[in-house]
Formats: sequence, structure tokens, C-alpha cells
Amino acid sequence: MPKVEFIKEKTPMPHQPAEERKKNFSEVATGYTEELALKEAKRCLQCKNRACVKGCPVEVPIPEFIKLLVEKDYRGAVNKIKEKNVLPAICGRVCPQETQCEKFCTLGRIKDSAPVAIGRLERFVADWDIQNPNPVEESVYCEDPSIKKVAVIGGGPAGLTCAGELANLGYDVTIFEAFHKTGGVLVYGIPEFRLPKKIVQKEIDNLKACGVKIETNKVIGQILTLDDLREQGFKAFFIGVGAGLPIFLNIPGTELNGVLSANEFLTRVNLMKAYDPEYDTPVEHGTNVAVFGGGNVAMDAARTALRLGAERVMIIYRRSEKELPARHEEYEHALEEGIEFHFLRNPTKLIGDEDGFVNSVEVIKMELGEPDESGRRRPVEVPGSEYIIEIDQAIMAIGARANPLLTSQTKGLVLNKWGYIEVNENLQTSIADTFSGGDIVTGAATVISAMGAGKIAAKNIANYLETNN
Ligand code: FAD
Ligand code: SF4
Repeated sequence: MPKVEFIKEKTPMPHQPAEERKKNFSEVATGYTEELALKEAKRCLQCKNRACVKGCPVEVPIPEFIKLLVEKDYRGAVNKIKEKNVLPAICGRVCPQETQCEKFCTLGRIKDSAPVAIGRLERFVADWDIQNPNPVEESVYCEDPSIKKVAVIGGGPAGLTCAGELANLGYDVTIFEAFHKTGGVLVYGIPEFRLPKKIVQKEIDNLKACGVKIETNKVIGQILTLDDLREQGFKAFFIGVGAGLPIFLNIPGTELNGVLSANEFLTRVNLMKAYDPEYDTPVEHGTNVAVFGGGNVAMDAARTALRLGAERVMIIYRRSEKELPARHEEYEHALEEGIEFHFLRNPTKLIGDEDGFVNSVEVIKMELGEPDESGRRRPVEVPGSEYIIEIDQAIMAIGARANPLLTSQTKGLVLNKWGYIEVNENLQTSIADTFSGGDIVTGAATVISAMGAGKIAAKNIANYLETNN
């Protein structure tokens, strides 16, 4: 048993300094060096109960990969992770580890002791793998495609994982993606400074090398229906279309110029490269920006607005710091960059000038009452506490809903009352040859849970095809 070292902070991750990074879109956290990774990995106690593994939605064999890392067998470590997680460079960067694997780490459960930085170590070995590709392994990764064709609708983490697993099993897989780029939220939502797009592209290239075909600019349900695809010979379907329809606050003034959804704002910047003057798809740059919400989407929108040149960026959140749903690291980075947090505040009205441009927001103070159905204390308004903040841009990041483009056009597909797809324990929908997973089933969740669903669905699609065709 290694000597136990109780330290209050995980081995720090090197970063671009806040003053520099708030002016560029390059990745904020630059990653552990080998020395730092070994130092952190040696803290792992190799516990027999493997509690951290149970905290990971796809059960990455964490103590085992860390042991290989300590032995400097980086190829072994990455292969060990890939037994369960095919996108480790992405998950190491964006998983909310503090509520998953790291929450259950024995070291983290001891007072004044930090958990092992599992995500950072996962990123270290995944980045090592990208820098040291193994051509032999990559070429034997997939089998020859069979004649059984499977259509994957949506190229986000759920769809990509499902497609990769099915290609591995030898199926002929085509991804149909509505946008001109595959990756879902990984490319249009999460900004470059948190997840460089070349990492996502590498994973997509791996899928293509495995024979997965990708058809972009194909909005299924509009351009083609599932019936059209059946006629083209597809024998089974996976629907992984996410939950990308933005929700707007129901307050006066949302129609004003300068008010937009985080979804539109981030898509324009990430996918349409609005930050680059070379591109002809601009987005309005605010000077005093208010972002409403407290999740990862709000953090991403606020930090993006800052990088586009805003002088003051405020996150207005109706609960307190304790309830903030964003990844803790993103919150800390946002604070370091000078984003203002206005906790226990809620917008009540957006106010515009005579030309119809937003020029201020009225907010009201909130206090926390009894817990609601989510278990969090319900925010209640403090009567008469309204005041005005001057702004010239307002970004709504209060959540998203199921987009009905496909679901409303697919006969026989049973949805729940919020428009999400109903599935059984095998992720099979009410249509026998159609499976579904990710945000379109659960509502907005996480990258790793979408990937987990893609993996389970692939296994069940294969079972279905073996017994029904
Ligand atoms: P998506 O990623 O939404 O992918 C769905 C894909 O389907 C999209 O490419 C879409 O264009 C396509 N599509 C939609 N309709 C059609 C159609 N009719 N035909 C064809 N294609 C279609 N999670 C984390 O774990 N960590 C984070 O740090 C994090 N940050 C986030 C930041 C932002 C800004 C956002 C928006 C989300 C974030 N999330 C984060 C949540 C996470 O990204 C999602 O839970 C996850 O991407 C869901 O995966 P998915 O495959 O179900 O859907
Ligand atoms: Fe933790 Fe995510 Fe890696 Fe699982 S995949 S071990 S939850 S970082």
C-alpha cells in the first residue's frame, strides 16, 4: 500500500494566465506534464472497493488505468480506459468529475483531503495517445462492414458512440447530421477554449477510418423520414438528436435586439466562427452583457462574450453559489477571468431604447425557500427589491427542450409529456427497429451519459438485428 498523502488541492493543472486567456480562444487548461501526472497518479490508494468506478457512468476501470500510468505504461493505460470509454480526451476535459468519479474517491471523502484528479489523469493519457498514435492498433480496430445497414440520426456524443460501437461489431453505419459538421454540442456548444475542435475531429476521423459514413446537412424528419431510410435498406435506427431547442424567459422584452439564446450565440461563435473577421457570419458583440442561468451553458456563453471583447459580463442566477449546476472548475475559471456573479437575482423585464435595442434589465432579489421536486431550495422573490442594471446584450442560458423536427414527423414514436422519446430498458422506442438515447431521452444531461446510452443502444441494436433480420 503506498504512503497516504492527504493534500487539500489536487496537483494543479497548468493554465494560460487569466489576463491573457480572456482575450483568446485557445485552450485554458494546458494539461499535466508527465512529471505532474505521475505525481498526482501516485496519490491513488488502489482501493479494493473501487468506489470511484461506481461513480463513473460508463465504469472506466480507474484504479487499473492509474496503476498503468504510474508504471509509465501509457499505451496500456489508454487501452484500459478505452475498454469502457472511446472518447477519453473529450471526457477528461468536460465530464463533471466532482459529481461523478472524483466524488466517490476515498481520498476526497476524508476531511481536508482532495480526491485524485481522475479527469486530469484521463486527459493526460488520452492526449499522450493522440501524440503517439499506434497505427497497428488503429488499423485492426474495426471489422469489415456487413450488409446490415444501420442509420444513426444525430452526430453528437450519443450518436458518435453508438456508430463507433456498431462499426466495431461489423455493421454498415451511416450517421445523418443536420449541421454541416458532426460532433453535436461538442462542436457547436462547448467552446474551443474548453474543448479544442481538433480533438473532436480526431475522434470523428477514427470513426470514418472504421468505415462509418457521415452525411452532413441532412435534417432527418424534414429532408428524409425514417420511412425513406427504410426504403434505402436501413434495417435499424438510433435517434440521438439531443435537446437543442432553447427556452426563453417568459418576461417582457425578449423580442428586443441584442437578446438572444445561448444556443444561438454559441453556435454562431463555435460553428460559424463569428469571432474570426474572415468569416461572413458575424454575431453582435456586447459591451455590458448579462447572461441568465448558472449551468455550463451560462459559463460558456459568459466567457465567450468576454473573449469577444465585452467590458463587463454578469451571470445572473436565481439560486446561490452552492446550487450552481456548472462544473466547479468552469466557475473558478470564470471568476478568475473577471466574470461577475449576481447570485439570488432573477430578471423580471428587459427594457429597450426607442430603436428597439435592449439597454437595461430589471432584476429582483431572491431568497431560498423550501426544497422543490429537484431537492434544491426553491428561490422566491423578495417583494419590492427590483433594481435596474444597464446592459446592451442579454443571453438566455436557462435550459433547452426537445426539438420536434424529427419526433413530430415520425409516425408511431411515443413521446413523454415534455416531448422526449420514451424508451424501454434496452433503449428501444415504441417502433421496434428504432432505438434512442442521450439528451433526446433524458433531457439535457452530460456528454458521458449520452455516450453511455449510445453504447447500450448499440449492443441492443445488434441483438435486435441478429434476431429479427
Ligand atoms: P447533442 O450533443 O445535442 O447532439 C445531437 C446532434 O443531433 C446534433 O449534432 C444535432 O445537430 C443533430 N440533430 C438534431 N436534430 C437532427 C435531425 N432532425 N436530423 C439529423 N441530425 C439532427 N456536458 C458535460 O458533460 N460537460 C460539459 O462541460 C458540458 N458543457 C456543455 C456546454 C454547452 C454549451 C451545452 C449546450 C451542453 C453542455 N453539456 C456538457 C451537455 C452535453 O453536451 C450534452 O448532454 C450532450 O452533448 C448530449 O449528447 P447528445 O448526443 O444526446 O446530443
Ligand atoms: Fe470520471 Fe468521466 Fe473519466 Fe468516468 S469518464 S472516470 S466520470 S472523467
